[in-house]
Amino acid sequence: MLLPCKVENVDLLIMLTSAVCHDLDHAGYNNAYQINARTELALRYNDISPLENHHCAVAFEILQKKESNIFRNLSSDQYKRIREGIIKCILATDMTRHNEILNKFKSILHGFDFSNKEHKDLLMMVLIKVSDISNEARPMEVAEPWLDCLLQEFFNQSDVEKLEGLPVSPFMDRDKVTKPSSQIGFIRFVLLPLFVELANLFPCLEHHIIDPVRKALDYYTEMEKALDKEKQNWAQNQEAPEARQNLDQKPQNQKPSDPRRTPRTDVSGI
Ligand SMILES: [Zn+2]
Repeated sequence: MLLPCKVENVDLLIMLTSAVCHDLDHAGYNNAYQINARTELALRYNDISPLENHHCAVAFEILQKKESNIFRNLSSDQYKRIREGIIKCILATDMTRHNEILNKFKSILHGFDFSNKEHKDLLMMVLIKVSDISNEARPMEVAEPWLDCLLQEFFNQSDVEKLEGLPVSPFMDRDKVTKPSSQIGFIRFVLLPLFVELANLFPCLEHHIIDPVRKALDYYTEMEKALDKEKQNWAQNQEAPEARQNLDQKPQNQKPSDPRRTPRTDVSGI
């Protein structure tokens, strides 16, 4: 395997532990909600990545228990390094930091040096980010049910935001997105730009993560076309003969605008 040859075992341990723990005790409401609703987590972490800070703190609470301390035989120097690495990786999963991390990674990609700590730290952050949003790289029969769950979580949040009079995240609004529209925007603008950069460093990943994601993009593009067609047919059937007669007099803007045009620009972890 390519990656284990390039990074040390301790880095693999950091990344695997981070991956397992990165969403611990997630309440199903993202950081924007936490901050706008002034939740206990937002208060505790001063609006700075409240969820990721919480996931990480819960992870170390568990790791400190005698029965679950998988690091108990390590020296304090080793533990310090692992703790620093896990904190870095879990905090990197805050999607509001997506562009910051991706741009830094892009800037070091040419001349990437596996023995440079800054370079390796960034690579580890990118790897956990790729894993975090990699649902669409899995077979469709696995990915789609998870996407349905995620959309349910999003719609639930936007419903609560509407009820509580809080700002509504557009990509979570059931009146503004559909399954295909949300995935098309997400894959195009968030997922692929990140995956492509990682594949630049590890070309063998192209086949594992880029190809299936492009297939998923085609799948949701077809789904959107089918939905549009269905919508058109439905609209035509709704037009009563007398309404058709009056059609010329109707102002153009009476037709509702297509809510599926809003691309998703941000996403919480799956
Ligand atoms: Zn996640």
